[in-house]
Amino acid sequence: MANLVRSIPRRTSNLLRSSVSSSTASLSSYTGPSSTDGRGYDHGAIDVHTHCYLPRYMEMLRNRTDVPYVCPGKSDADDERYVILPGEDAEDTTAIGRPIGEEYFDVGQKIRYMDRHGIDVSVLSLANPWLDFLPAEDAVAMAKLLNDDLQEISEGSNGRIYGFGVLPTQDPEASCKEIERLASEDCSKVKGVILGTSGAGNGLDDPALEQVYSALAENDMPVFLHPHYGVGNSHFDGTGHSLFLALGFPFETTVATSRLILSGAFDRHPKLRLLLAHSGGTLPFLAGRLDSCVEHDHEMCDKLERAPSSYLKEHFWYDSVIYHTPALKSVCDLVGSDKLMYGTDNPFFPPKEGARSDKEWPSTSKNYDAIDGMVGEDVRNDIVWGNASRLLGIEPIHQK
Ligand code: URA
Ligand code: ZN
Repeated sequence: MANLVRSIPRRTSNLLRSSVSSSTASLSSYTGPSSTDGRGYDHGAIDVHTHCYLPRYMEMLRNRTDVPYVCPGKSDADDERYVILPGEDAEDTTAIGRPIGEEYFDVGQKIRYMDRHGIDVSVLSLANPWLDFLPAEDAVAMAKLLNDDLQEISEGSNGRIYGFGVLPTQDPEASCKEIERLASEDCSKVKGVILGTSGAGNGLDDPALEQVYSALAENDMPVFLHPHYGVGNSHFDGTGHSLFLALGFPFETTVATSRLILSGAFDRHPKLRLLLAHSGGTLPFLAGRLDSCVEHDHEMCDKLERAPSSYLKEHFWYDSVIYHTPALKSVCDLVGSDKLMYGTDNPFFPPKEGARSDKEWPSTSKNYDAIDGMVGEDVRNDIVWGNASRLLGIEPIHQK
């Protein structure tokens, strides 16, 4: 595998530049309808949950035959398919994976999607399973290359694209070095890092990650925590990807975050900050129960300085990728409306007509609809762009 990583060119500049520049031109010329017109936001959105499998990563997946991999479609006319989730290849209703086209790896497509959906700025992250499956040495090399790609894309994007970098978490020491590099001027467009729940292979409460949390906190790098592995997967057979994504993903975030809190990480690293995918899984709903069960447990009751929910309030931000106003309200009731930020999960969940059709993406507009159910213009603007702008130091572009 080491050879594979090295064989992918150091610079993919032409590919990246052409797809970005052909589309950033549209920033000034774009006059078409935006799905946020009429919604009354005072700026375009900042999307904090939006992915891209960068070209060199795609190349690596195309060269693999074990999960995760990308394979050709049945005929030349069919999209490639990607099979990335654990056990996906072995279960009848998920075995052929999902179709993948240029919306997954072409930044120009991302910008066209942003233009059509009222999104000023996207904070791009590599999607799951990141570098988790690579030997440490390859993950270290690949992380640097991908983070440089992200910086380069952002520099050529007229302020439309920023990034969450990726870490070789199987090597905590190398991760610390990469965090320091990402925090330097060389990687100024990288505003944080995306992290899965496996860490160095033993979860996020693994003592081996203490140095990584120190480096993140000291360098003021927020973590975007995103699921991949699912929890309770044996219950999802026969349902395609639906229950794995609807339940397994949020359950995974719930468990990983709870274990991280219960490990005392936030007592040891008071400056550590995380953004939770999918509005924090089930935590906004279960926070009271978590507090009560910890308080009544002999093993756990004296281990933390505070109740678990108080860490959820202080150290965590939440995306809005939950498609439902009552769920957004429950986040705001628990942690306040200044902690909730707009996300799309693009390019996942495309319209039935296909990702490259001219159709509005219902998964995207549903998220706006859910936000529009929140009371207060200030609250809606904070969710759509203001909170992300403050957390990440990013300016929106279009004044409405
Ligand atoms: N969203 C993601 O980020 N990853 C998936 O695999 C599916 C949906
Ligand atoms: Zn996602």
